[in-house]
Amino acid sequence: MFTPYRMTPKRRFLSGLLGGRVDRPPIGAITSVTNIEQMEICEAAFPDAHLDGARMASLAAGAHTVLGYDAIMPYFSVAAEAAALGCQVDWGDRENMPAVLTSPWEDPRQVLIPEDFLERAPVRAVLEAIRILRARHGHRVAIVGKVMGPWTLAYHLHGVQPFLMETLTDPPRVRQFIERLKEITVLFGRAQIAAGADALCIADHATGDLISARMYRQYLWPVHQELTRRLGCPTALHICGNTADRLEAIATSGFDCYHFESRVDAASAVERVAGRISLMGNVNNPEVLLRGTPDQVEASARAAWEAGVRIIGPECAVPLNTPTENLRAIARIAQPMG
Ligand SMILES: [Zn+2]
Repeated sequence: MFTPYRMTPKRRFLSGLLGGRVDRPPIGAITSVTNIEQMEICEAAFPDAHLDGARMASLAAGAHTVLGYDAIMPYFSVAAEAAALGCQVDWGDRENMPAVLTSPWEDPRQVLIPEDFLERAPVRAVLEAIRILRARHGHRVAIVGKVMGPWTLAYHLHGVQPFLMETLTDPPRVRQFIERLKEITVLFGRAQIAAGADALCIADHATGDLISARMYRQYLWPVHQELTRRLGCPTALHICGNTADRLEAIATSGFDCYHFESRVDAASAVERVAGRISLMGNVNNPEVLLRGTPDQVEASARAAWEAGVRIIGPECAVPLNTPTENLRAIARIAQPMG
């Protein structure tokens, strides 16, 4: 598609997300693209960048200023909500992402959102980072927020093992958890929009490795439709792992875009979703971005674009020791079209 004007990164990214025209391939991801080298260049590092909004914003800006991507997404980990709600979190270091260590809620009736949730440090830091990024880069670059969906929140706050067990033994209990937890997604999502996010990533790890396509449709599909309606902004779903068997449901879940892994073949995914949702991501992290050469990265990125993926970027949060040269190589395909 040719457009006679040069788009700003923001317009290009949002147009790709919404399935519109673009002047060249939009580049970016809605999961973390930071690495150790960016921590040095941006003079802001883990673990401080998880809890300090100003440092978070400085490091996240590297997605545009260092890598040349069209979007900035500052929430690097998946632990902000969990930490704010009482899970013990190991915030890691420059080489390790945070890990959620404990799950405080045994029963759905324990799911209560504290009045000061948005003021609690890990949540406040994300909101502050979005406000700063909006002011500094929002006139040119897409500022993307991120929230955990109710499925991921249940893994953190109730525990992966008990929750997955209950999907088989106690479906009403699973529904109660989801019904209550989804309000956290709405609250934090709306706060990020108010802080200045142009679009939201909803990360909800209902991956094929852990639950069946039937369960996705049964438990989450209606909730995802509700969430996208209530959030109202451009949204992209992130689920990693193999999701080939649930693409039909994902395509009709209400999201504008689906950020997916290379384990799902790009060409067949494009065919399956048939224009009902845009696709983003697909460049392999462990083999190509981490261990490959810049030329291999460029070839993967080009293949994804040619297959019909609308925004090209890493498939999931990149390993922190990924070479910057490789992350930059994705943007090599972003030559003006005509
Ligand atoms: Zn992922």
